[in-house]
Amino acid sequence: MSNWNKRTKAVHAGTRRSQYGEVSEAIFLTQGFVYPTAEDAQARFEASGDDEFIYARYGNPTTAMFEDRIAAIEGAEDAFACASGMAAVSGALMATLKAGDHVVSSRALFGSCLYVLEIVLPRFGVEVTFVDGADLDQWRAAVRDDTTIVFFESLSNPALEAVDIAAVSQIARDKGAMVMVDNVFATPVYSRAFELGADVVIYSATKHIDGQGRSLGGVILGQREFIRGPIETYMKHTGGSMSPFTAWTLVKSLEHMDLRVRAQTASAEHIARGLEGHPGLTRVIYPGLASHPQHDLCMAQMGCGGTLLAIDTGSQEASFKLLNALKIWLISNNLGDAKSIATPPASTTHQRLPADQKAHLGITPGLIRLSVGLEDAGDLLDDLTQALDIAGL
Ligand SMILES: *Cc1c(COP(=O)(O)O)cnc(C)c1O
Repeated sequence: MSNWNKRTKAVHAGTRRSQYGEVSEAIFLTQGFVYPTAEDAQARFEASGDDEFIYARYGNPTTAMFEDRIAAIEGAEDAFACASGMAAVSGALMATLKAGDHVVSSRALFGSCLYVLEIVLPRFGVEVTFVDGADLDQWRAAVRDDTTIVFFESLSNPALEAVDIAAVSQIARDKGAMVMVDNVFATPVYSRAFELGADVVIYSATKHIDGQGRSLGGVILGQREFIRGPIETYMKHTGGSMSPFTAWTLVKSLEHMDLRVRAQTASAEHIARGLEGHPGLTRVIYPGLASHPQHDLCMAQMGCGGTLLAIDTGSQEASFKLLNALKIWLISNNLGDAKSIATPPASTTHQRLPADQKAHLGITPGLIRLSVGLEDAGDLLDDLTQALDIAGL
């Protein structure tokens, strides 16, 4: 199996068949497991093996199928499935850190990640230093001999700023720090995070992995010793495990994730090229365009521009007019969905950030994040163009 390509692993890796030989993965909607004898129960609790389960918070056959399949696709030794992306991010950090530790993180983070790093960790005596993710000198200055973890989003939300995974991993490695990458925007399809030096890769499975706006989930990937050691121990006792039903929706979603994400990327590129230079837009941000300041880095890291872009209408008034004139794009805040979604981050997902931080992160009042779905790319571009007209842009 290890020589299979990602698309083959996505369909077959991790499958566990019951005695009935079902073709489609079964959903084991059970929280508990029966032991034939008291001695078996004792043995199971002493040392549970690969196909031995105790309680669904610890593990479940359907959840294990999801973990094994995503680990195979990502090229990781192991994975732990979590109740949400934030259960994965907070769990990975809390399982690894203790009072007195030091973390360095990029500042451009998903709002809830920022809350965990800025508010929660310091409450437990963890010191956190924030840097501009794209500035390697700031990373070099901030990472110390006693730094435990370096954390960043490989491509930031919503301004699509990239962090050089290889360079930052080298800086961390020189100081003995562990590298944790929140890799949502790169998706498992384009991820090369482990190859570039990451120790731990985290996904919100809510996004491209589900890809259909149904399930909340997350996953932590890394070396087996780490995943089955501190991560499993922390997650199984604190309650952030994935439900078997969610794992079943996600294991089936992995089968066609590659097809979906590549189609969404082709459409995102078509739309970015179609909008670039539009007189009504002050910016079109897409890593796949040569005009993106880190175009070369993004192409080296992901091989393409991904499924998200951002446009700037110059003002909140204009962006609201444009949003309200859209007929296909939905005004919402998920991403990676089959349905194309337009998000005004300054007034929604990043509303609580102080004005100076918003400005620093490029979250201007007229910014609209576009998550490209599976509709026809021409229809999506036409919809944006007619909405720009109606907004007088
Ligand atoms: C959505 C998201 C999360 C959180 O995931 P949930 O599944 O919503 O908990 C974390 N990081 C990034 C970059 C995200 O986009």
